[in-house]
Amino acid sequence: MWGLPAAKTVRVSTGLRTLVIDAGHGGLDPGCNGNNEIFEKDVTLGVALKLGKILKDSMPGLKVLYTRTTDKTLKLWERPNLANDNRADLFISIHCNANNNRAAAGSETYFMGLHKSEGNLDVAKRENAAITYEADYRENSRYGGFDPESAEGHIIFSLVQNAYMKQSLKLASGIETHTNKISAIKSRGVKQAGFLVLWQTSMPSVLVETGFLTNPTDRSYLRTTEGQQKIALGVFRAVRDYKRYMETVNAGVSGSR
Ligand SMILES: [Zn+2]
Repeated sequence: MWGLPAAKTVRVSTGLRTLVIDAGHGGLDPGCNGNNEIFEKDVTLGVALKLGKILKDSMPGLKVLYTRTTDKTLKLWERPNLANDNRADLFISIHCNANNNRAAAGSETYFMGLHKSEGNLDVAKRENAAITYEADYRENSRYGGFDPESAEGHIIFSLVQNAYMKQSLKLASGIETHTNKISAIKSRGVKQAGFLVLWQTSMPSVLVETGFLTNPTDRSYLRTTEGQQKIALGVFRAVRDYKRYMETVNAGVSGSR
């Protein structure tokens, strides 16, 4: 049995001032392999940089931070840590999916919660296995002895109450709606599973599986600048809607932060 990672501080987020974009994987961790044509870490960085550019151009008041802007190896905990240290209001982790079934295609956006299917658990297991690139992950108290292979471990931390569920769901729905509308990638919907990178954040957070690098059609699209730009634009529109939503919800709240 593993121990839960250190408890998060629950903060009330009343707006959108600071946003962290997390390009999944990087450096020694390539993420999933797109038929040796492209690796996940390259697609995630491409989408992350394009998303950041659109956000900076369109929302000048918004502070945009990246977990990485180059092909750099990061420890998994450094990603949420950057967001927590900067009191970010939103955390978006960008990824690509993979499946033994080459026909599997489309995007999925996850927020923290208990998986409702084995398929969702498999996605979380694959993403959480990124910590195995860290030599000391078993001893690192930040992971509390978490075993990325264990279904039980995933269930335990997924069941802990998530203070940001409603806001995360709102953003996740927007991402699926907008990317489906604007890009060639079809939506597989909003889902929940236990992702370490989301668990450790103290703000609304989502993980976007932009498409399957094991599917020839998704892969061809995600390799291109145009494809990555469309995905980024879809995510941007969801962030824009989310900002308006937060401002409406908090219209009567002032001076709380
Ligand atoms: Zn990934």
